[in-house]
Amino acid sequence: MVKLIIDAHCHIWEERLLSAEMKEKYIDLAKEFDCDPSLIIDINHEKLLLQMDEAGIDKAVLLALDYGTLFKLKTYKLYNSYVADIVRKHPDRFIGFAGIDPRRGNRAIEELERCVKMGLKGVKLWPLTGFFPDNPEFYPFYEHIEELGLTILCHTGSSPPGTYMKYNRPAHIDTIAVDFPTIKIIMAHVGVPWHNEAISVAKKNENVFFDISSLQVAYKNAPFFFYQTLVEAKMKCGVEKILFGSDWPLFVPHISQKEWVHAIKNLKIPEPMKSLGFPAFSDEEKTMILGGNAAKILSI
Ligand SMILES: [Zn+2]
Repeated sequence: MVKLIIDAHCHIWEERLLSAEMKEKYIDLAKEFDCDPSLIIDINHEKLLLQMDEAGIDKAVLLALDYGTLFKLKTYKLYNSYVADIVRKHPDRFIGFAGIDPRRGNRAIEELERCVKMGLKGVKLWPLTGFFPDNPEFYPFYEHIEELGLTILCHTGSSPPGTYMKYNRPAHIDTIAVDFPTIKIIMAHVGVPWHNEAISVAKKNENVFFDISSLQVAYKNAPFFFYQTLVEAKMKCGVEKILFGSDWPLFVPHISQKEWVHAIKNLKIPEPMKSLGFPAFSDEEKTMILGGNAAKILSI
């Protein structure tokens, strides 16, 4: 078993890469967390590396985001190249995923091929910008993903103001998973509030997994929900489906990377829940969640 700690869901940008609209979204988020917006906006990979070192995170998956159709990003290619450059500088620490909106049609397929040549290993999909990921029009795009051996990480679950939730249901992932059984798909955020749907989709499809990024908030403010979700996942679809992730830097104002790793490393079901029959997580299971599962999926 690989004992690495892998953060399967991180973002990266510099202010120059953000459109004004997107910057506004991050400022809103900072207001929601009552924190200094610079913690979210003024970031770079050096800052991420420092926080990874502090937390003992060995590797992180960096996700580019193609939000062009909703928030006026014109530079999706530049964004993908930016991520590829960082991976080239630190190949032992970072794994890069391209951000490509499948509505770009042939240009999306061309970009896939360019990104693979640059060393990127997967594609991040962001349906909340306005598309159903299982639209049959995108099947040529998925055929290329399959051929190129890429992994998909797709947003599932709730989404910020100004974006569309109806596109984010885990059930759409089920369709792609059934029609493309060799593509490995990671659903972000356990699909909350559709976590039961996400767990069911992961259970019935061997090729589907999910990351626990954004559960940091529940860990701090709604621990019963946090433990219940993890236990349900363990019981229904198995620990091998659960990947550690943080959505860095979005939740850093809330909980540090170090504290988040600590939460999983020392995952302990609270006594009142134990007495209700909630099972404990073994050390081996925690190792799987922290990185063993991601290492297997990403062939590390
Ligand atoms: Zn994210």
